[in-house]
Amino acid sequence: MLERVVNLSRQYEAPPIDALLIELNRLGVCISKPNYKFGDRVMFELNMNPLSEFDSAFSHEYKENDFFLTLTINPDSPFILNTDSGTLEVDSRIIGKVEELQDCGGYLLYTRDQGRVLHLDPKLKSNCNGCDFCHFGVASDLTIDLSLNDPKTYVQWAISQYKRLLNVDDFSDIEQVAVVTGCFKSAMELLTYLDIVRQEFSGKGFKGELFYLGSELRSEDMSDLCKLAPITYCHSTECFANREQHLHRKKSSVTIPEIVEILKRAKEKGINTTFTYVLGLDPVKDVIGGMKQMLAGITRVPVTNIFQRHSQGLEKLWAPGANDLPYYLEIRRQLGEILGREDLKPERPWEDYRGLWYTEFQGSTIIGTRLPGRSKFHYKEQVL
Ligand code: SF4
Repeated sequence: MLERVVNLSRQYEAPPIDALLIELNRLGVCISKPNYKFGDRVMFELNMNPLSEFDSAFSHEYKENDFFLTLTINPDSPFILNTDSGTLEVDSRIIGKVEELQDCGGYLLYTRDQGRVLHLDPKLKSNCNGCDFCHFGVASDLTIDLSLNDPKTYVQWAISQYKRLLNVDDFSDIEQVAVVTGCFKSAMELLTYLDIVRQEFSGKGFKGELFYLGSELRSEDMSDLCKLAPITYCHSTECFANREQHLHRKKSSVTIPEIVEILKRAKEKGINTTFTYVLGLDPVKDVIGGMKQMLAGITRVPVTNIFQRHSQGLEKLWAPGANDLPYYLEIRRQLGEILGREDLKPERPWEDYRGLWYTEFQGSTIIGTRLPGRSKFHYKEQVL
């Protein structure tokens, strides 16, 4: 397998290490513990130093070579997570050291960017379903929703938890507070919530960016959103074709041209804009066509996530060719050129754990950490 990855990466002008991580994200891992089944999810840090020791094709200039991965369990995957030795293996070769291995579930609080980004997911996505590619409906048995009755109390609770867990008195060093959910009932409910987040965190010294990922907002809501600046609006777009088939009805009711208009309106108001996209659902020509359409509305690179099967039979969601590496490398090549021409590049590696670029984008080394930091925050027992 390693030989094929190297050959294909040369053909598509990608670093072998990036091609290998794409393949790992697509296929998931076979784990040596018996208590996991197909589609369960684990997350861990991966130090790939050992790889370059046995195969110079995988050496790279990436300085912070710890990757953070969230992967589905797949007993047929050639990637073996050996929990006894704490290593990730393929073709009987060790490709990296695994650290901080944890189950991946539904979490209310977690950090990214070495603890400089705080997530505040008020509505547990594990209560949500309706998008056929999404694992959240099966990811957790947690059913609480702390924000339903009293969002202010929830935000204050979250602040006290983060102060305790980060061992800080204020949030003046925090760069971003992110609200990542598509589960608000209305734009009004969302805007009220974001306003509370801004006010409560500002009261504790936070001056950084708010980040909202979801799909509730429409063009007319952007004036209210820009009052919360600095803010980034990330529209949960997910796919370009067959949207009614793939998406929750609330999300599919907005067309791609409408999304572009919403994002353009946000951009005009000085709001940073981007969108999330699931790689593997659309044929290559639809991916590229849709990405070109979206360019008019965005100020940052899209957050692309390689589709991971969370249950048996979900191969049926793969677009033609998406069951093999060339599909992703072709999109990587074409999309890299398109984004590069617009001077858009992946500047926040911690934002995208399963994308297309890991160590290099259009010939430039990607700098920056992917590690979440304080990853034990992910443990739900610690925050509930
Ligand atoms: S809206 Fe769709 S993608 Fe988002 S949490 Fe719900 S099911 Fe998952």
